[in-house]
Amino acid sequence: ASRFADVKLGPPIEVFAVNKACVDDPHPDKVNLTIGAYRTDEGKPWVLPVVRKTERQMAADETLNHEYLPVLGLEAFSSAATSMLLGPDHPAIAEGRAFGVQTLSGTGALRVGAEFLSRQLKYSTFYMSNPSWENHRLVFFNAGFTEFREYRYWDAANRTIDFSGLIEDLKAAPENSVIILHACAHNPTGCDPTHEQWEKIADVIKEKKLFPFFDSAYQGFASGDLDKDAWAVRCFVSRGFELVCAQSFAKNFGLYNERVGNLTMVLKDKQFVPQVKSQVTLIVRGMYSNPPNHGGRIVSTVLNNPQLFEEWKECIRTMANRILSMRSGLKQRLQALGTPGTWDHITTQIGMFSYTGLTPRQVEHLVNHYHVYLLKSGRINMCGVTSHNIDYLAKAIHETVL
Ligand code: PLP
Repeated sequence: ASRFADVKLGPPIEVFAVNKACVDDPHPDKVNLTIGAYRTDEGKPWVLPVVRKTERQMAADETLNHEYLPVLGLEAFSSAATSMLLGPDHPAIAEGRAFGVQTLSGTGALRVGAEFLSRQLKYSTFYMSNPSWENHRLVFFNAGFTEFREYRYWDAANRTIDFSGLIEDLKAAPENSVIILHACAHNPTGCDPTHEQWEKIADVIKEKKLFPFFDSAYQGFASGDLDKDAWAVRCFVSRGFELVCAQSFAKNFGLYNERVGNLTMVLKDKQFVPQVKSQVTLIVRGMYSNPPNHGGRIVSTVLNNPQLFEEWKECIRTMANRILSMRSGLKQRLQALGTPGTWDHITTQIGMFSYTGLTPRQVEHLVNHYHVYLLKSGRINMCGVTSHNIDYLAKAIHETVL
């Protein structure tokens, strides 16, 4: 008998399963609104020109080699990533109490951060928004957390944030609970708290002695403006919180498969930095030993070179603007068709995703009758919308909702 005979088949991961169904569908008009990756108006993946340029320079640079990186990664990368998050002139950086660790993309940063909090600070309860990026749950459990709770986030009737529910749930959280907060462009709802609401969230987190864990997967990609998208994290740091933040460079650099991420840690005092770094080093050493070089070096080169940095900012504006124009185009079409319901949320939501409010039955109908693929929750990736399929999509939604 096989030792593996009793292994149970795990559930499929929805987003990959729906994407595969779409890829396998031969229908010429199919629309793929599943995976969170940018597409051009031709529906193609985009290698940012500044990334290509940097890769060409790297390929020609005979001084580069394939030696191991340090366990905590390229210092030039992680310090630039931390500066990008907090702003280069942030006092926490000048005071030497904020630092970065290169990780395996945003997911890796979440895992390393969670494992540190679980092992070293002995935190055991984590909260994620309902709904949230589903993987938070698996990552935190695998990192050693044992208690999972949710805070209310989505008000389905009004297609907005259930702010009083959110505050009520945070107020009821036990001390030292880790609160996962989406830094901007909340996935999947596309709805972020206002500045005033963030301040209130910070008040409760402080009062109840909770621990903020930011997830920043869309800085710059959401609004086209790096500072605007980092507002919430900077607000917390300026208010004196100790926190960690997982940063992904998958979306804003289009480096999805290179796994470029950073874990920024902000402490009260720099005297604790060496001991914290030493423990993070042991976590990484025992997990994957050290991070890959290629993507981290691209990002580091761009962030540390003023000319390339400007070119990159132009690229993120291009991506953000294309999404914004698809949002307004889709809303206009649905309104022009007189599709029942309100569609203003398509343009008030930001980032890659829109939480359409379509029901699971409507989603099924869109998939089966129109070959429009989206998640059961009604989440669509706006990047899958193009000037070529937008009329078809609007009509499909219209006829489905009628
Ligand atoms: N966090 C959120 C909210 C995300 O949407 C994603 C990607 O979709 C990630 C983290 C992590 O992405 P990656 O590990 O590819 O950087």
